[in-house]
Formats: sequence, C-alpha cells, structure tokens
Amino acid sequence: MTVDLQNNRLAQKTTGNLIVTLLDENGNVIAQQQSYKPGTSGGDDNGLITLDGEQTASQTFTFAGVTNAAQVRVTYSDAVLDENNAELARVEVDGVSLTYDEATKTWAGSGDSLAQKLVTIVPKNPDAKIAVNGQPYNGSYLQAFGSGENRFEIVVTAPDGTTTATYYLVVANNVPYVPPTYEVSISDETEHGVVKVSPSRATAGQTVTVTPTPDEGYLVGGVTVTDAEGNPVAVTDEGDGTFTFTMPRGKVTVEVRFTCDGGEKCPSRHLVDVPVGEWYHDVVDWAVSCGLMSGYDDGSNTFGPDDTLTRAQLAQMMYNEAGKPEIDASLVKRFSDCGSDAWYAKAVAWAAREGLMTGYDDGSGRFGPNDELTREQLAVVFWRIAGEPDERGDLSQFPDGSDTSSWALDAVGWAVATELLRGYDNTGELGPGDDLTRAQAAAVFMRQADAEKDEKTGD
Ligand SMILES: [Zn+2]
Repeated sequence: MTVDLQNNRLAQKTTGNLIVTLLDENGNVIAQQQSYKPGTSGGDDNGLITLDGEQTASQTFTFAGVTNAAQVRVTYSDAVLDENNAELARVEVDGVSLTYDEATKTWAGSGDSLAQKLVTIVPKNPDAKIAVNGQPYNGSYLQAFGSGENRFEIVVTAPDGTTTATYYLVVANNVPYVPPTYEVSISDETEHGVVKVSPSRATAGQTVTVTPTPDEGYLVGGVTVTDAEGNPVAVTDEGDGTFTFTMPRGKVTVEVRFTCDGGEKCPSRHLVDVPVGEWYHDVVDWAVSCGLMSGYDDGSNTFGPDDTLTRAQLAQMMYNEAGKPEIDASLVKRFSDCGSDAWYAKAVAWAAREGLMTGYDDGSGRFGPNDELTREQLAVVFWRIAGEPDERGDLSQFPDGSDTSSWALDAVGWAVATELLRGYDNTGELGPGDDLTRAQAAAVFMRQADAEKDEKTGD
C-alpha cells in the first residue's frame, strides 16, 4: 500500500510519524506499521517525515499475509508506536506561552491572573501513562496557579511499564497573592473587664495581640484562644500586660477570665480560707455577694470551701435564693429528725412545702439534714426547680453513668444535657453518688444562674 502526503501550508515546515493501521470489519486492529524507526534519534534516517510548505511525499507499506482487512486508518502526527517510548510530545497551558528546554526537560512560561487554567499533556506514544506530582493524568484538567512560581513534576511511563522519563512544568503567576483573613472574636462571656484584639482579622501565621483591661478590683486570671474546631491555640504572656498568639488557618475566639484581686471590693475578703488564685475564689465571691451562701456563723471567719455540702445547707441555699419567703418553722416537725429551733428549720420546711426536697422514702420519716448531699440528689432538686423538663442527655458517655440511681435517672439525664453536671476533668467520670464540696455546690448554682441569664437574653 502506498500513502501520499502533502503539506497544504505555504511556508510552514512540519515533521511527523506516518502510522498505517489495518482493521477488520468490526474495527479491531489487525496490523500496524509506522515510518518512524524506533531506537534511532536525530539525523535524517529516523523515519520521521519532514515536509516544507506545499511539499509532497510518498511512502509504501507492505503487510504480508493479511487477508481479512476491511478498513485502513492513516495518521500523520507526533505519535509513535514503540513500547519503550516515554517521551512527551508537548505540554500546553491555556493562555500561557510555554518554551521547552531540552537540557532540563522543562516547559516554562508565565502569565497574569492565572487563577485556573486548562493543562494538556500529550505523550509521543498514546498508550504511555502520565503522573503529575504523583497524581495520575487522565486527560486535560483545570489547574489553580498560586502567586509566583508553580512547579510540577511530570513522570511518563512507556507502555512497556519500565521505561520512564521525568519532565517539569514551571508556570509563573504574576498576580500578587492576597491571603485570606480570618476573624478574631472576643467571647461574649467576658465579664469584669474589657478585651481588645489587634488586628481583629488576621491572616494565617500573623501575630495577634490581646490587651485585657480588668475592671477595678480584678486581675487577668487567664487568656485562652480556641480555633474554629474548638482546639486550644498557644498563647504567650508578653509580661507587659499583653498576650500574643499566632493566627491559625481559620477564625478564633479569645476568652479572658478576669478574677478578683482580693482587695477592698472583694466580697470574701473577711473569709480566711478563700484565697485569691484558688479556682473557687470567684465562685465564692459570687455566692456571698448574692446572699446565697455565707461563711460559718461561729466567729472563725471560714467558708469551708472543701467541706461536704449537707442536705440542710442545700435547702438553705435555695431558701436564700428564693428571698427567704415567710414560713412557719414548726412545719419542719413533719420530719422525725428536724427540730423547729434548728438553724435550717425554715429552709427545710420551705423546701419541703415547695416539693423541691422530700424526706427519705424508707418509712423512717427522716429528712437527713446533716447527711451529705450527693450529686444525683442535687440534680433532682434542680430538675424539680426547672419544672421537670423532658430533655435527656446520654449517660452512657460516662464510664460510671450506669451507677446513677433509678429514681434520679430523669433528673441526671437532664442535668447532663444542660451541662449543669459535667464529668470530672481528670477521669471523665460523672460520680452520681459522690458528694459535693461547698465550693462545688456554689459553682453549680452559679452555672445555673448564668444559664438562666443566657436564656433571658436569648444567648
Ligand atoms: Zn474576691
């Protein structure tokens, strides 16, 4: 068979490989030949056909023993058929003029505003496999180019599976890159001081400065920064009243805890066992300032923050919180172990009348005023105050959640859902049957008051 070629262009010179393919009537390839001679390189004898403008050429291919050929396909292009050819014919980036350097096997070019451009890579052997920066190439794709130099490694594997060649594509994007900025917000829980952040929007890696200014009578107790996923961001105390952190890739929230300085304005100043710096100092300040709790009435000027809270003390806290309504103390005599002249008589009588605390259900008629209050008992009381809501948390999230008493399940489930009760920081356990210290009880009341305040303000 003889194939005639003609270059129809007037002046443009072209070089290509002539491939003749014989197919049967179903389109299956029977035999294939090419003008290119594999293994040769350069020179005039490599079989590639070069045509100047308007030139013609002619080549004869002989297929021996083929009888069932139904169709002939002829191509003249960059393509070659040899199994071990891992060369690239060309690389194109839409809108970018690329030049090829043989010494470094690099296509390079530059352009403006190359946000996304189509990249096309053509191997000489159409069956060669290509990977760009390790990712398989499956035809033209859109590539985002950042500002400055973008470098890609192109590895071509010949159809024989072993011959490879490595090329590079380097595209310079001349548009300056404007990095995104993320919000630095200040927690709306901030109390007893003012917090300023600079800048209020920052790029990833930028240093952000936090300047807290406490109200009179307060100190900076701690600065925490959390990222968008709730993870802590490292904060540096600069020692001059400011704090800094490095902006992560995403928005952050800054929370400054202002704590009492123990000075003249401190409500617990007269209490000798509530030192500034203890976690409960500000909690006790709150409980004392709102009349919920006070120090012991024995002249010792102590609060007993680590003493266990008794059932009578809880009744007294609630009675105080309710504003000490008028009640007949003798009503307390419905309980076999409470006298009407006890310090807690009115409080217990009131708590019982309101249905918030009941005596023991064991036929003894006891209230147990001096018994230690358990965490699940506290949950029951708060649940009743809240009107016995239906909300339930999952107790199985705590290793000891199943230790909860059956009569307290609804209340503890609710207390967990509202975070009134939380697991211990160190063990994650819920401790439903554990007692509470007076400081812990004050903290629960404060948390509940905060939650009610948030509800009223719609937070
Ligand atoms: Zn204080």
